[in-house]
Amino acid sequence: MPSHETPSPTPLVLPPALARAMPPFPPGAVWLVGAGPGDPGLVTLQAAHALAQADAIYFDALVNEEVLRLARGDCERVFVGKRAGCPSPKQSEITALLVTAARAGKRVVRLKGGDPYVFGRGAEEAQGLVASGTPFRVSPGVTAGIGGLAAAGIPVTHRDVNQSVTLLTAHDASGGLSQRLDWAALSAGSPVLVVYMGFRLMDVIADRLLDAGRPADEPVAVVANATTPRQQVVRTTLGRLAARLDVDNVAPPAIIVVGGVVALAPVLGLAAAAAPEVVEA
Ligand code: SAH
Repeated sequence: MPSHETPSPTPLVLPPALARAMPPFPPGAVWLVGAGPGDPGLVTLQAAHALAQADAIYFDALVNEEVLRLARGDCERVFVGKRAGCPSPKQSEITALLVTAARAGKRVVRLKGGDPYVFGRGAEEAQGLVASGTPFRVSPGVTAGIGGLAAAGIPVTHRDVNQSVTLLTAHDASGGLSQRLDWAALSAGSPVLVVYMGFRLMDVIADRLLDAGRPADEPVAVVANATTPRQQVVRTTLGRLAARLDVDNVAPPAIIVVGGVVALAPVLGLAAAAAPEVVEA
C-alpha cells in the first residue's frame, strides 16, 4: 500500500498542565484515534499528541490529509481505505497489519474520520486488538453527525424541539438498506434522525419514513463535507428528498438530518460556519 510523503511537522508543544494530562504512548501499542469530521482545528489534543509520536499511521479515506501533517516526517503513512473502484481491505487484514506493526515495536495510530466508535468499525478493530493481546487505547473524536451538523448551524438537540436524537446508518454489511431498522419505531419515537452513510439511499430512507407516518413537509438537511471548505448544506423536506430533488449538486460524504432542528440552520448557520452554502429548497 502506498505511503504518503508530507513535510515534517512542528513538534507538538503543550502547556505543562495539558502535557501532564496526556497518556503515555508506549512502543508496541495501537491507538484508535478519531480525526474529526475534516477541519484540522477539530482534531483533539490527544489525537495531535498521538500523531506527533506515531511511527506508523493507518488511515481511512475520510481522513483529511492535513491532519496527517501532524505526524513526524519519517512516520510511515499507510492508506487502508476504499479507493474508487477497489474494494476496501477486509477488517481482519487491517487488524493483522496493526498487530504486526505493534509487534515490531512501533507506536501505531489507526486514524479514522470522526469518532472511531461511531459507524467506523473501530469497535471491531478494538476487539481484534484485544483478542491478539495488543495494548490499545481509543481516543475519541468529533463525530460528523453531531459536530459536523453543529458547524452547519444544526444543533442535534434544542429544548423546544426534541428530547432525544437517534444516530443511524441505513446500510447493513452488504451495502443494501438495513433490514434491521424498525422504521415504524424510528418514525414514532425519534424526533430527530441523523443518518450516516445514507447518501446513496436517501430517497429510499425518506420513503420509509413517509410510509411510517412522518409528514412530507418535515424539514430535512443534507450536510456534505461538513467543516471543510467544500461544506454544503441543502435544506429540503422529506417529501422532496423521497423524489431526490434539490441534491443534484451535492457530493458525499454527507449526513442526512431529519427533524425540527433543521429549521434553526438559517439562523445559526450564519454565525457558526466559515463558508456555508445554504440552498433554500
Ligand atoms: N466515524 C465517522 C463516521 C464513519 S461512517 C464519524 O464519527 O463521523 C462514514 C459516514 O460519515 C459518511 O458516509 C457520512 O455519512 C459521514 N461523514 C463523515 N465525515 C463527514 C463530513 N465531513 N461531512 C458529512 N458527512 C460526513
